[in-house]
Amino acid sequence: MKLAVARNEALLGVRCRACGLLQPADERYVCGDCLGPIEPEYDTAALARSDLRRTIEAGPDTLWRYAPLLPSRPAAGQWPVGMTVLVPAPRLGAAIGVPGLMIKDDTRNLTLSFKDRPVAVASARAVELGLTTLACASTGNLAGAVAAAAARLGMPAFVFVPADTELSKIMGAASYGAVVIRVNGTYDQVNRLCGRLVDEVPGWGFVNFTLRPYYAEGSKTILFEIAEQLGWRLPDHVIVPVGSGALLTRTATAAAQLVASGVVPDAPMRISAAQPSGCAPVTDAILDGMRAVRPVRVARTIARSLAIGAPADGDGAVQVVKRTGGSAASVSEEDVALGCELAARTEGISVEPAGGVVVAAARAMARRGVFKDGERVVLYLTGSGYKQGHGDAMSLAPAIGPDADDFFAAYPTARG
Ligand SMILES: *Cc1c(COP(=O)(O)O)cnc(C)c1O
Ligand SMILES: [Zn+2]
Repeated sequence: MKLAVARNEALLGVRCRACGLLQPADERYVCGDCLGPIEPEYDTAALARSDLRRTIEAGPDTLWRYAPLLPSRPAAGQWPVGMTVLVPAPRLGAAIGVPGLMIKDDTRNLTLSFKDRPVAVASARAVELGLTTLACASTGNLAGAVAAAAARLGMPAFVFVPADTELSKIMGAASYGAVVIRVNGTYDQVNRLCGRLVDEVPGWGFVNFTLRPYYAEGSKTILFEIAEQLGWRLPDHVIVPVGSGALLTRTATAAAQLVASGVVPDAPMRISAAQPSGCAPVTDAILDGMRAVRPVRVARTIARSLAIGAPADGDGAVQVVKRTGGSAASVSEEDVALGCELAARTEGISVEPAGGVVVAAARAMARRGVFKDGERVVLYLTGSGYKQGHGDAMSLAPAIGPDADDFFAAYPTARG
């Protein structure tokens, strides 16, 4: 294994979530003993003695300020990613019945979704391992994030997507020079295809497969930022959209690591899950008494980024919601559209349907009385509406002539 840069001294290795074995953080992507899922582990006790807060605050204005709790070092020349704003959302909060609501606006990343975070960490890892090509299976956003990162690092990219992925996302990835392989099948079938390729394409790093333990670590940085932006405290409650479940489960990991490193006080933080009812393997399992996840074979939803029927971290997500006292909502297609509209019209933030799912889930949970008085609730808005257009031009008023009379004929009330 080639290590291009000094590694994180606090990284103890990778631990198997199935058998518990701690092993070296090398090119392995599953447990060397039982093939179970592995996760990087850090010496949080040492970090707690080191004044980690100061180290972070003195770091760059990117997600790499949290490097002591990340498994790779930044690769030379990477685009800055992360440090998106956390803002109060009083009008949206009033509209959906959640006073004190806040928005973590991850629509403003490099390629307009939070996927730039996991890709930043996974691609840096790929460079450390001396890999030559980046690849992924994607529901749309990951393809763009991988394509852009690969271009910047001077690597070729191969991105695999279901053939019916939104054209705007496919063209976005292609515009960075990535080879876009459209597959006639569901995301889960695309993912299995990638799984069959990994051993036959030496030098390739599949960011959400052979680099998955590193990819998932990037998802922790949303919660790291929220805690820092709140003045080094955890929010009371976060509402997280669920696809593979990596973002939701790593939100819990991130909170635990901040507490163990002495960076934030130990306080309860509830984590709730949001999915569209047309593909709700995780939220249905939660609402159905925290049972095991049952795969969804055919997803039917406009929230394509969340259309993963067999989520890799699905059961883990159910367990996190259960353990933290969180809740869930499976929301209808009409409510997803309403959620997008509310975010745009009340706060001026354009979200893709995954964001509409989160807004609608918060609204449904508010109606069920899930939120406590004074609870500080943060919505994860993870993808921009600008990536897939804003609906049907037929719903617009006809164009007018370049003439003031035409304008006042069309908008008589404007004269007051
Ligand atoms: C991928 C994605 C998610 C879900 O993330 P997972 O880690 O797969 O659960 C949520 N929102 C958007 C916009 C995404 O692209
Ligand atoms: Zn194991």
